Amino acid sequence: MKLELHWKIFIGLIVGFLFGFFLPEHVSYIAWMGDLFLKALKMIIVPLLLTSIISGIMNIGNPEGLGRMGIRTITYYISTSLLAIVTGLFLVNMIRPGVGADLKFSQTVEGLAVATESFGSTLINIIPENIVRAMVNGEMISIIFISILSGLFATKLDEKYKNVIQNGIQAGFELTMKVTQWVIGFTHWGVMAIIAVVVSKTVQEGSITDLFQRLGLYMITVIAALAIHAFITLPLLLKFIARVRPIRHFHAMSTPLLTAFSTASSSATLPLSMEAMEHNAGVSNKVTSFVLPMGSTINMDGTALYECVAAMFIAQAYGIELTIAQQVIVVFTSLLASIGAAGIPMAGLVMMSVVLTAVGLPLEGVGLILAVDRILDMFRTSVNVWSDCCGAVVIARSEKEKLPKLE
Ligand code: ASP
Repeated sequence: MKLELHWKIFIGLIVGFLFGFFLPEHVSYIAWMGDLFLKALKMIIVPLLLTSIISGIMNIGNPEGLGRMGIRTITYYISTSLLAIVTGLFLVNMIRPGVGADLKFSQTVEGLAVATESFGSTLINIIPENIVRAMVNGEMISIIFISILSGLFATKLDEKYKNVIQNGIQAGFELTMKVTQWVIGFTHWGVMAIIAVVVSKTVQEGSITDLFQRLGLYMITVIAALAIHAFITLPLLLKFIARVRPIRHFHAMSTPLLTAFSTASSSATLPLSMEAMEHNAGVSNKVTSFVLPMGSTINMDGTALYECVAAMFIAQAYGIELTIAQQVIVVFTSLLASIGAAGIPMAGLVMMSVVLTAVGLPLEGVGLILAVDRILDMFRTSVNVWSDCCGAVVIARSEKEKLPKLE
């Protein structure tokens, strides 16, 4: 019997959990599998971004088409992130998990100050000084910028040059996808090892029950709000705006979603979501290569929601009542923080400084939520990826694509 990949991944997840829980001191025997898998995924990201975006844009062809799709995509990113934040804000005000909580500080977080300083210059840094350096350092937004620019101008070349570039880039894209498919075949092994390491760290760092007693209500608030966004809000958009069956799409995206959950990295998940989007959902390369790469760094609904809930929780724990105006600031800075956060594990925690500083909450407050951040990161990253995947379908429909696999 041949098991489908997402079942294998699911089993890998459970085995990894049991391994990390019962044999925490032995995880080093399998940790290498997770490292190999993550390295292989990261290896694919730069060529995938370059080739998919340039070929996608050349396929769109005309600048008006690109502009129209660009505006729709950005509108989708911003509105779903705001919906997510408002859901989080509503629940955190209802449940009030921080009020009267008996909290102690874990540790201070490195890199907090850096995030506040560099946020302003993030926009300027989109333009790389040196293309090769941007690729070497894996600066996603800069690579996206170079690719969009190259794609745009490639369409303006003389026919004979344009064809060379289009064929060459398309060939590069096909090649990258072949390598991606090969790496995807190992997902269950990678997932098993990554989960085992995360669980063993949590087990070794302190008693889970103790953590849950102190931060349980906070975790429940975050997870419940994420669930509402993922299982109600986004499916409603799929059903009524994209007119596809949400369950089918969810099923088609199961491999990237499970991978996002275990790796807690949208960037590392990108190759898998692109593959699933084209092969399982049947969305065109034109839309996939435009919506998903940008979404993986810009559109983070889960992170946006998390920033808001965490900031409100910290305020409640310090006994600070935030006014409505301050809460509005929290909403908008959470959006900014989620746009600025990189698609790597715990990036959202570092970006908390943006939100906390904006409303004058103490930066050390982050120490309160540190202990459970990696666990919540798994949930919010899955929502980040799910929102990108729903976005691709919404945009594909607005471009009048037929999606028989999802109907
Ligand atoms: N880990 C998240 C992601 O890659 C970002 C975050 O920390 O919220 O999407």
